[in-house]
Amino acid sequence: MSAVEVLPAKRATRLIDLVPPAMLAAAWAFWAWAPKAVLDNAWTLPVVSALVTISVLLLEMVAERHSHWRMNKREFLTDLYYNVLFATVISWLARAMVDDPLLAAKKAIGISTTGIAQLPWLVQVLMVIFIVEFGQYWMHRLMHNSTPFWLTHAPHHHITQLNASKGAVGNPIELFLISLSVLALFDFDNTALFAAFTSTGIISTFAHANVKADPPIWYSFFFTTIRHHSLHHSTDYESTRCNYGNSLILLDRMFGTYKEGEGVIVGQDDLRRLSIREQTLFPFQPLIERWKAKGTGGSATA
Ligand SMILES: [Zn+2]
Ligand SMILES: [Zn+2]
Repeated sequence: MSAVEVLPAKRATRLIDLVPPAMLAAAWAFWAWAPKAVLDNAWTLPVVSALVTISVLLLEMVAERHSHWRMNKREFLTDLYYNVLFATVISWLARAMVDDPLLAAKKAIGISTTGIAQLPWLVQVLMVIFIVEFGQYWMHRLMHNSTPFWLTHAPHHHITQLNASKGAVGNPIELFLISLSVLALFDFDNTALFAAFTSTGIISTFAHANVKADPPIWYSFFFTTIRHHSLHHSTDYESTRCNYGNSLILLDRMFGTYKEGEGVIVGQDDLRRLSIREQTLFPFQPLIERWKAKGTGGSATA
């Protein structure tokens, strides 16, 4: 088994390859046409997001990509911890520390972008995806090019298998940084916002999933797939410096960081899997080691 694989140039599209685009289309239809009471319910978005992850996890059981990425109890519980952390503490922090202050500043200065909600609905959805992904792309690229930022992102690259629930696995500081956006400055229609969040959720869930779907080029030209993202997770440093787009691989094509290929064996530092404790302490490890060295140095001279 080689670490990186290249797909044959041309291959017939299978039914499973169409599942990611079909799910994306279903999500758009839902947010466009669901009854108003459902759309207005605050629980609809978190429930839809959870259902996306659960359904792709179930799909892993019937259309597995690699047997060595198969879900087990330890992986499942770790992923569950991070998905709950992301949906509660991290989302709350991002709202309280970034979105709400941005909204207040926008109000104080008197900026109004109400015209945006008059644009065609699908245009708004695509604009939201672009704005969110543009920020995430540059944040992700920064994380791979600056040591302090890399220390927060490295734990995500220490995962040794890919699964639908792995997108949220990482150091909490990284999860916070990646959820920052300037979206609060724009007055998009709420359902367009939710459709965009569900879209990036579906795309990035499939981009981490152990599912043998390889969507056709009319999807994979724009949206990140498991092929693009598994290469980003490969074992050698150079292979990870590409395909930064969380959901919009188009940005890598635009900014020259796109790379073709597929990672089969994933993980950093000779596939060293980190525990939740190690992932949480990872960015502070250099400080902890320096402090420990000082401690032993002190006792040696005493
Ligand atoms: Zn990365
Ligand atoms: Zn990833």
